[in-house]
Amino acid sequence: MTTRRDFLKTSAILAAGAVIIPPGFNINKGVKPKVVIIGAGFAGLAAAYRLKQKGCEVTLLESRGRVGGRVFSHPIDKDEDLVIELGAEWVGASHERMIAMCNEFGLELFNNQFETHLTFAGEYFPKGKWNYSDEWKAKFDSLIKDYANFREEDKKKLDKIDWWRYLTNNGINERDLQIRDLADSTDFGECIRHVSAYAAIAEYAESSEKNEMDFKIRGGNSMFSNALAERIGEENIKLKHKVLEVNQADGKVDVLCDNGAVFSGDSLICTAPVYSLLKIKWKPGLPQEKIDALNQLQYARICKHALLFNERFWKDEDFDMVTDVYGHYFYHATKNQKGTKGALISYTIGDKADVVSRQNDEFKAGMINDSLKTAFGNVKDKIVTQLNYYWGMDEYTKGAYALYGTGQWYTLMPELKKKFMSTYFAGEHLADWQGFMEGAIVSGEAAADAITG
Ligand SMILES: Cc1cc2nc3c(=O)[nH]c(=O)nc-3n(C[C@H](O)[C@H](O)[C@H](O)COP(=O)(O)OP(=O)(O)OC[C@H]3O[C@@H](n4cnc5c(N)ncnc54)[C@H](O)[C@@H]3O)c2cc1C
Repeated sequence: MTTRRDFLKTSAILAAGAVIIPPGFNINKGVKPKVVIIGAGFAGLAAAYRLKQKGCEVTLLESRGRVGGRVFSHPIDKDEDLVIELGAEWVGASHERMIAMCNEFGLELFNNQFETHLTFAGEYFPKGKWNYSDEWKAKFDSLIKDYANFREEDKKKLDKIDWWRYLTNNGINERDLQIRDLADSTDFGECIRHVSAYAAIAEYAESSEKNEMDFKIRGGNSMFSNALAERIGEENIKLKHKVLEVNQADGKVDVLCDNGAVFSGDSLICTAPVYSLLKIKWKPGLPQEKIDALNQLQYARICKHALLFNERFWKDEDFDMVTDVYGHYFYHATKNQKGTKGALISYTIGDKADVVSRQNDEFKAGMINDSLKTAFGNVKDKIVTQLNYYWGMDEYTKGAYALYGTGQWYTLMPELKKKFMSTYFAGEHLADWQGFMEGAIVSGEAAADAITG
């Protein structure tokens, strides 16, 4: 079977096929390129670390005042040392590089799996007390099994329809469809009517049993970016350096930042998400095909609303819950962290995320209370503090992660991956494990390897 990951590997090779790596960069001959990297998220950091290990000179330019990008841990209660994630949450059991690097850096991965409760149509169903219909469970299992036999043309055909249509074409009943939409839309960050059926089935068929919602790093996922930054060396990471302009000529790159600083190199790795990438002035300009692809790729809107409660009234450490009300999806954000207090995160997506993010704290507390009261009664008085991060308005991404819509997986991604002059592109949006930290890391390392040969 050709997996999505095999396809991506092949397409990466094809994309790089248009690229001639200057022979001078064959580091086996002792020539070490000087590389500038835009972005100190996981892709940029992983690229820099790989290059540093190969003895190359690297400079990482980061617009924010911190490293980590979309990985953003936050201490929600300093007294009890409780840490939550405002960005990426779960490390998947299949995420090999991430796990290997955690081991390398001595970072502990602890269990962060959940057993899902449901609030639907005014009724609360604890874990184990709800399920899809037997017919649909059997049908879905057979669809997932069939995926193993898909040929390349079957996958391309599937990419042309959306996940909602695929499910309805396969006879899902209304209740099952509504619950699937509520659950699956949290994976993609938008309603499943906007998601490529190919991207969806590939994710469900190729992921771990808990759909890569398996682990978390003790102390917060930002420990990973901090560990990388330490190894790369602070002197090589320039925070608050927003790249405005990239000039490429004669096998050299000059990068201009908003504070007037200019950095030069033999190669550039650009890990900026699409919104930011399009704001950079490229001289000469990017090829029209790449601009067209960049303009077509949307990002999912996710809003994380975190609430610290004075007690863990949900009782189960492994509590999460899908709801059909405003709060959408809730999960225990301080699982396996000792304390009397505990945090839940309400995870809204799409238009719902947009609406929730704009409201004041009073409204949000009321909304959370309304969403939880079917299951737990009134909980508003138990709120100690709350905070909100809406990725749809994040200054540099304007979204949580890329959203491959119908017909885009097989068309946009290969174009976006193509090298342009001395610039290589990396980041979650170009990855095999798209939408995951693992994808960002692997894409960054691949860009570094493409430079060094
Ligand atoms: C709400 C949410 C939930 C998620 N959940 C998970 C999860 O559970 N598991 C998982 O594995 N992944 C998850 N992810 C995805 C994961 O966070 C990303 O895939 C990964 O962190 C992306 O890394 P990156 O390096 O590609 O991009 P980024 O982290 O965005 O890094 C790019 C960097 O470039 C910088 N930049 C942009 N423009 C410029 C410029 N002009 N000059 C200089 N710097 C610039 C940005 O500030 C940023 O730091 C989640 C993401 C979000 C937002």
